[in-house]
Amino acid sequence: MTALLEARDLTRSFEVSQGMFKSRRTLHAVNGISLDIRKGEVLGIVGESGCGKSTLARMLLGLLPPTGGAITLDGTDIRSLGRIGMARRVQPVFQDPYSSLNPRRTIASIVALPLEVHGIGTVAERRKRTLEILDKVGLPQRFADRYPRELSGGQRQRVAIARALVMKPELVVCDEPTSALDVSVQSQILNLLMDLQRELGLTYVFISHNLAVVEHIATRVAVMYLGRVVELAETETLFRAPRHPYTKALLASVLTPEPGQGIPETGLGLAFPDPLNPPPGCPFHPRCPARLPQCGTAEPRLVRLERDAVACHLADPGHGASAQS
Ligand code: SF4
Repeated sequence: MTALLEARDLTRSFEVSQGMFKSRRTLHAVNGISLDIRKGEVLGIVGESGCGKSTLARMLLGLLPPTGGAITLDGTDIRSLGRIGMARRVQPVFQDPYSSLNPRRTIASIVALPLEVHGIGTVAERRKRTLEILDKVGLPQRFADRYPRELSGGQRQRVAIARALVMKPELVVCDEPTSALDVSVQSQILNLLMDLQRELGLTYVFISHNLAVVEHIATRVAVMYLGRVVELAETETLFRAPRHPYTKALLASVLTPEPGQGIPETGLGLAFPDPLNPPPGCPFHPRCPARLPQCGTAEPRLVRLERDAVACHLADPGHGASAQS
């Protein structure tokens, strides 16, 4: 499968104020991530809140410039495509359908807005396309002239999906698209996204803290921890035989969406570390039940293992061993 989007050594840092009389600190939200997103796949990205997945999503969408590294789309650096060029090919679906829809616009006007901004079609052609896409996401055409406040949460998320698809993008970046919805509605939206992916041949990046959801929809999964990818594998492999101790902990637990709450029910003890003051060596070492002597001083590299990759000294025994001596 060829790569649609490639991220190389992507970093993003922010200067964070510590208060009036304290110096500013640097937060490395994304720290040296390299990823290929293959045409037609659903790449799941999982990790606790605060691990950098939403920052990564905004960079993949071209909404946030990286501090370092580069992103290419079909071989072209996205900086040369610009916001407009990117929006034609890469579209987002965000978590909160309440805040992402303009309450003063009708549903038809919200969905047609990207076509209008990009100068695509006549008014009549845009209306026709809007009604077609509403139909595709399972909304009756009579909803076209209603306002967001008249719709349920699930219906609003269908509108957000319609708005993302109206431009016929190749890649859709879904950032926690079901998290704000009632449990009963979540599976409907998930199934809709899967149906649309198959029918339209879309490629998805699907970001979630919910492992069950990711297992259901993703073909490959990247696990993030403190701004890094620590494991990347085919979904079936990752859930059947995880290699990284953090992935194993995630699979043994239920993630909470709250940063600082850490991983409950795993017996790891310590909460999520302070991203402004990350541990030296392997960033997971203070919580890792399998840590080696070198883990506190030497950061593991991401080791490629046939189709998968893992960043752990256990998978790369020679690397970092000298750091303990
Ligand atoms: Fe645990 Fe060491 Fe592997 Fe980090 S490198 S996950 S501390 S064993």
